[in-house]
Amino acid sequence: MKLNIQDTFNKELPADPNKNNIRRKVFEACYSYVTPRIPSNPKLIHVADEVAELLELERETNTDEFLHMFTGKSVYPKTSPYAMCYGGHQFGHWAGQLGDGRAINLAEIKANGQRWALQLKGAGATPYSRTADGLAVLRSSIREHLCSEAMHYLGVPTTRSLSLALTGDEVLRDMLYDGNQAYEKGAVVCRVAPSFVRFGNFQIFAARKDHKNLKNLADYTIRNYHKDINALDGKEKYIAFFQKVVDASLDMVIHWQRVGFVHGVMNTDNMSILGLTIDYGPYGWLEGYDPNWTPNTTDREHHRYAFGNQPGIVLWNLVQLANALYPLIEEAKPLEAILDGYQTNFDQKYVEMMAQKLGLAEINKDVEQLIEDVEQNLQLTETDMTIFYRELPRVQKKNTPQEAFQKIHKAFYKPLELAGSVTDAWTTWLTKYLKLLQTETDRDETRKFKMYEVNPKFVLRNYMAQLAIDAANKGNYEIINELYEVLKRPYNEQPEYEKWYAKRPEWARHKVGCSMLSCSS
Ligand code: AMP
Ligand code: MG
Repeated sequence: MKLNIQDTFNKELPADPNKNNIRRKVFEACYSYVTPRIPSNPKLIHVADEVAELLELERETNTDEFLHMFTGKSVYPKTSPYAMCYGGHQFGHWAGQLGDGRAINLAEIKANGQRWALQLKGAGATPYSRTADGLAVLRSSIREHLCSEAMHYLGVPTTRSLSLALTGDEVLRDMLYDGNQAYEKGAVVCRVAPSFVRFGNFQIFAARKDHKNLKNLADYTIRNYHKDINALDGKEKYIAFFQKVVDASLDMVIHWQRVGFVHGVMNTDNMSILGLTIDYGPYGWLEGYDPNWTPNTTDREHHRYAFGNQPGIVLWNLVQLANALYPLIEEAKPLEAILDGYQTNFDQKYVEMMAQKLGLAEINKDVEQLIEDVEQNLQLTETDMTIFYRELPRVQKKNTPQEAFQKIHKAFYKPLELAGSVTDAWTTWLTKYLKLLQTETDRDETRKFKMYEVNPKFVLRNYMAQLAIDAANKGNYEIINELYEVLKRPYNEQPEYEKWYAKRPEWARHKVGCSMLSCSS
């Protein structure tokens, strides 16, 4: 297996001189060298073929070299794997040093003219593992592998996942944090992204007043990922950099809101500096539309990271990043102006996105009102977000509100609750919607196909991932393969996979893994 190794992070930035893999605080360094743990009996479960192609590895996936490299059994010649040092705000509180506790960066490569960092998740402890073991279990690894790829095909900026493998080792977990520990199968995924740098990588240096390394890291990121602003001088460069991060993060969260994705743990250490969705933990997909919903049981009380809060949390996280970058700029005004811009741009982009979901090309006050109203109506009785937006395109200009209502019927979980005020509210909404549709120039068929392009038919519903996990725990990987294939074309009809276009089954309503997830992974 021949890789075009082009390391930058561990070549251009300062390393921790201590090479002992002992948990500790690491100062004045961006990373520590660490060797992945050797798995006892590694076995590949799934390889994302398109990621393999992206990396020019498509002819290697059946080789021992591939298996060994992407499970940590062997280290590629002349590479120096490492774990990054970063800090972060967890649930609103500064947590100090966190770092790659169970992620080990293998190398950066160039393939097809692009740079990719390769990172194993679950390949053993690092100096940043704190009190944990550095390992990952099969269930969370399946969730990360499938969802990274599903998000990519939905058009959402995300880290990718090359491979999912069993380590052959057992991992002890208290899945529900209720004192019941049990052994689970250990697994490793190989994540792939242009960079895995997070807001927290900057924050740790700012918190420690290590402005030299703060600047090192900012210069590194700009030089390698934002060449277009690299020539700017002094603080202008860092202001432009902050603007880039703000724009990318905004774009990411608009996509999350569009597809109904709830990240679940939007701590600043889980915010990518490139605006990629990163760290798939207790994430979930909205089924019944509820802005207050979060899958994360740790957040059950405060709902800090609930669906409807995500855009505001991105802003909160950006404020923390602005604070971290401040020493390089020493002027609050330009940073504040950019943060104010986030709010204005968000409002505009959100309306544009929602109008697209509704199939309305023109935006005016009526459309804005219609968007607010649809979000209210979707909460009147449990209504499936994905199905609602996927069925709405079937409404035709000539329909009566009653006919239109029939067309979205499939989205409702409790048809008995539709009587009376719920039906009235939808009839009122559909009356206004039909009136606006009639002012649109597109014909019904054209509008329908445009709407299909932004309203997915297939998302990785929480219970779908759980079915894949339950089967995989018994050694059957067919559902993983099938879901991977369906989710590659989420906007296509794919009638052969119609069974995955369905409301959450009743058994999954309160089942662990389907409606509730802990951070235990
Ligand atoms: P998270 O919010 O799940 O992304 O994780 C927060 C921090 O805990 C990060 O520094 C992770 O690297 C670390 N962490 C999470 N799980 C483990 C684990 N099993 N072993 C070591 N570190 C972990
Ligand atoms: Mg994390």
